[in-house]
Amino acid sequence: MLDLLGTLQRTHYCGNLRAVDADKDVVLMGWVHKRRDLGNLLFIDLRDRSGLAQIVFNKELHAAAHARAEELRAEYVVAVIGRVVKRQKVNPDLASGEVEIIATELRILNTAKTPPFVVEDETTATEETRLRYRYLDLRRSEPRRKLALRHRVILEIRRAMDEMGFYEIETPMLTRSTPEGARDYLVPSRVHPGHFYALPQSPQIFKQLLMIAGMDRYFQIVKCFRDEDLRADRQPEFTQLDLEISFPTQDTVFGVIENVMVRACAVAGITVNGPFRRMKYKEAIQRYGSDKPDLRFGMELHDVTAEFAAAREVLHIEGSVQALAAPGAAAFSRKQLDELAEKAKGLGARGVYTAKVTAEGITSALEKNLGAETLKKIGAIVEAKPGDLVVAVTAKEQIPGTDAAALIAGQVRLQLAEQLKLVPKERWEFLWITEFALFEWNTTEKAVVSAQHPFTGIVDEDVAKLDDPSDEVRLSMRSKGYDLVLNGVELGSGSIRIHQQELQDRIFKTLGLSEEQRRNRFGFFLDALTYGTPPHGGIALGMDRVVALLAGEKSMREVIAFPKTTKAQDLMAEAPSTVDQDQLDMLGIQLKPVEEK
Ligand code: ASP
Repeated sequence: MLDLLGTLQRTHYCGNLRAVDADKDVVLMGWVHKRRDLGNLLFIDLRDRSGLAQIVFNKELHAAAHARAEELRAEYVVAVIGRVVKRQKVNPDLASGEVEIIATELRILNTAKTPPFVVEDETTATEETRLRYRYLDLRRSEPRRKLALRHRVILEIRRAMDEMGFYEIETPMLTRSTPEGARDYLVPSRVHPGHFYALPQSPQIFKQLLMIAGMDRYFQIVKCFRDEDLRADRQPEFTQLDLEISFPTQDTVFGVIENVMVRACAVAGITVNGPFRRMKYKEAIQRYGSDKPDLRFGMELHDVTAEFAAAREVLHIEGSVQALAAPGAAAFSRKQLDELAEKAKGLGARGVYTAKVTAEGITSALEKNLGAETLKKIGAIVEAKPGDLVVAVTAKEQIPGTDAAALIAGQVRLQLAEQLKLVPKERWEFLWITEFALFEWNTTEKAVVSAQHPFTGIVDEDVAKLDDPSDEVRLSMRSKGYDLVLNGVELGSGSIRIHQQELQDRIFKTLGLSEEQRRNRFGFFLDALTYGTPPHGGIALGMDRVVALLAGEKSMREVIAFPKTTKAQDLMAEAPSTVDQDQLDMLGIQLKPVEEK
């Protein structure tokens, strides 16, 4: 028999009770976390959102409550009426461990089936089970704490944005395609058969329209949808802090984001200071082989192409040779060196060369190709110290406009840093990357494509290069785009935009869109640009990733209430799913067999 809640009201949260609450009469409500039956005394740990409190049922003092408590099982929902007393022995593991509650009355408000896994801090349940029963998983303290952190971070961001004069403005979810470079999720229109909405890949066009509309400063914490290929830490729907500013310089945007991030970090107990470091894209690739360098450790790359000149043919070297000094790795065994070479080759390296540095000098099989002097010179260039291993990498495939050897060496650098434990976990290295390439080479399309989205502004001196039809010149054009990076993770990107219709149209043309495609896809936007568009720019940060980093979590799924798996499935709701024939008929959709991927 279940009891009724009636008019009973909760007075306290379990986890908040302290010694100062002793002698208070309280009403607590929550779930039975654990129960221990010692005969005349029965204890339960009662759980609510705030944490746990120990409840004591004493048969001699309150027989009826004790009898009722004997029926309790894990996850039953109860109301406890009782008095707070100080414990004789404090439980240091519980925030409320100074006190316990002597129950005078117990109401059982609901029973619970035995859960598929025990709701406890350390769980052995697989991620699949946790996601299938996410509502039970979220009862655990860790997931709960992360959602609480997410709430506080987002609230603080909203406060900061408001204080800086931004309006939060919603933009449509049912819209048309935005070119962010991913596939769209399409939504069929019943009212207009054969027509589709696209879920927004980002509010990019709308936020630019809001600038044309004179809103001056817009932001939104907004869901975006991208049907991308499955990859470890991707979510098909994710949340952005999206913003746009009229009449900004790059510094205006950076200042806003620095303020936001400093405050968001503070919420998580992390002290960082603005302004953040800045680095040009080219320099980032040269020094770190990455457009999102992790600055928490050194091991910078050095171009030693010239030093390898004499052996280019013998060693079949194409492109550049990039080297670094790995501290302490001179002690690597034969096996470790082989593994290093294997890994680098797995990343696309053609040649991987190593040299050990000891107090006596530098030794390497390379000596016979390069000579002792050149080898010494390489050691000096990479600033190798005794105990270091010099690693040099060459690459096979050369994509126009990129340095494959540098990109591979950059990944080798990251792997070595992990292996050699060079990454200090408590450091927070923010970095702005600027002056990205405007276009990049797409190997499947064999054409230049926008490196970011096609609304990205062009560095003023480079605009004239658009007149030159050669791919090489186009690949050398710099954009007004920028990325924010934290500890080697890209948090988001943005740009100062193109605000002149004529230039925007030329970009679309350069990207190979015909007059008709331009009108059809972007006509409304190109029109809007002709009605007095202010210079504007903005950025979007991936909030799931930001919160995951602040929470010290590797996976974004841990900071999303109901995440999807890496296969883009919601295991709990079992989405995506098939739909009734009626629904398809109404939409005029006929399915044809699709090959399983
Ligand atoms: N719309 C861009 C994105 O989602 C961000 C921006 O350019 O503001 O990546």
